[in-house]
Amino acid sequence: VPLKESEAFVLRSGPLGESDRIVTFLTRAAGKIRGVAKGARRSRRRFGANLEPLSLVRLQYFEREGSDLARIETAELLESFFRLQEDPERAAALACVAEVADAFAREEQADEPFFRLVHAVLRAVRAGLAVDPALRYFEIWTLRLHGVLPDLERCGRCAQPLPERGSFYDRREGQAVCGRCDVARGPGAVPLGGGARRAIREILTRAPEALIAAPPAAADLGPLAGMAAAAFADLTEKRLRSYEVLARLRGRG
Ligand SMILES: [Zn+2]
Repeated sequence: VPLKESEAFVLRSGPLGESDRIVTFLTRAAGKIRGVAKGARRSRRRFGANLEPLSLVRLQYFEREGSDLARIETAELLESFFRLQEDPERAAALACVAEVADAFAREEQADEPFFRLVHAVLRAVRAGLAVDPALRYFEIWTLRLHGVLPDLERCGRCAQPLPERGSFYDRREGQAVCGRCDVARGPGAVPLGGGARRAIREILTRAPEALIAAPPAAADLGPLAGMAAAAFADLTEKRLRSYEVLARLRGRG
């Protein structure tokens, strides 16, 4: 069995038995990998704190026949985002990034653009990007890279240009529709005005660091959160608990 190697982000890490840890990675070379770090609970000598969520490591592992769990040989720390997580709100936001990445990454299927997105967002947060623009950036690009960001120029039903006011993200169809078409608005409809659509355009055309000095207005980012939450729930069919934690922390849950 050949030893495999890849850069990887730790997405999740939990105890396994008395002495081991089970760890989920987003690897650059092979998408999502789950593996067992033998002895990582009992002794910190081999893995240290390198298996903390969102550490970037050089991962070496063996795939095991008849098992979907790899055996983790080494995880050498390349870049740590651990200090960032001393701030509870930032820690909660980064947990959202890890959970969404876990939900969208495919097992053993490389997704270089998605890997680079996670890296770019973490680095931007470390450079001072605030939690809300960072999360919206990550969410919009996650939808885009997975081919599910709706067309934001034209109505998904009548194909007319979307008006400045009175457009919606229609959750039932996963598309943006104009108010004329959206007469029987469903409970999942999220208003998506001109400001929100401009914020999305800005996100799609700029690096995340570029938003540090001039983030989109909070009022324009708000609807993006609603659209992403609806789209994520529908696409992953999971309850993303990290978002509930963040909302509770902010007193809105
Ligand atoms: Zn329409």
